[in-house]
Amino acid sequence: MYPRRCVVCDRPPGYGKMICPGCIGKLRVVRGPVCCKCGKPLRDESEELCKDCKRSKHFFTKGRSVYEYKSIRKSVYRFKYSGRSEYADYYGKAMAHYLGDTIREWDPDVIIPVPIHKKRMAKRGYNQSALLASGLARELGIPFAENLVKRTKNTIPMKELDAHQRQINLKNAFIVAPNDVKLDTIVVVDDIYTTGSTIDAVAAVLKDAGARDVYFVCLSSGASM
Ligand SMILES: [Zn+2]
Ligand SMILES: [Zn+2]
Repeated sequence: MYPRRCVVCDRPPGYGKMICPGCIGKLRVVRGPVCCKCGKPLRDESEELCKDCKRSKHFFTKGRSVYEYKSIRKSVYRFKYSGRSEYADYYGKAMAHYLGDTIREWDPDVIIPVPIHKKRMAKRGYNQSALLASGLARELGIPFAENLVKRTKNTIPMKELDAHQRQINLKNAFIVAPNDVKLDTIVVVDDIYTTGSTIDAVAAVLKDAGARDVYFVCLSSGASM
């Protein structure tokens, strides 16, 4: 057994701890004015929507994120690509702490992750969004469904693409697995919110399958607009 590591500095934070006390303040929580649709921090308080949401229609109803991406960028990278699946323990609890009241207001039937393709799953060994979603669902006592939506296409990493290419890349990338339960309200969980194109693609197939409202929560959100 290796000692667990701090999500910020990646060193052992001490027995029974998930983060060093001195590192807590280094993660910046999204506060102040946010876009009422996607939850991105806004520079101009008089605005209701960010630039992206003014420009484009979304399939999701609305969403919120916990941390400003810049303050968590390196940690998210290790969480996804360096095997630090244990970070999900701290981050799942943090999502419940900061967004629990909001999620309860939405009153979802189920919490699901943005799925990854089975090839990427085989390579990485875990889906970081599923770890976040299951931790969050457990904390809030809301059902978790890992495989309600499946990723059928192994898409190119989104960070290499612009907004239009992202949409093409995501076309027909997801399907809803057959299920007997009527799911009206669903919360989708992901690690990073940028343009919303991934969440939108998932929301679109869920709405096709009869969902009324698809909300999202992300661990972090991109730069303010
Ligand atoms: Zn630390
Ligand atoms: Zn927005």
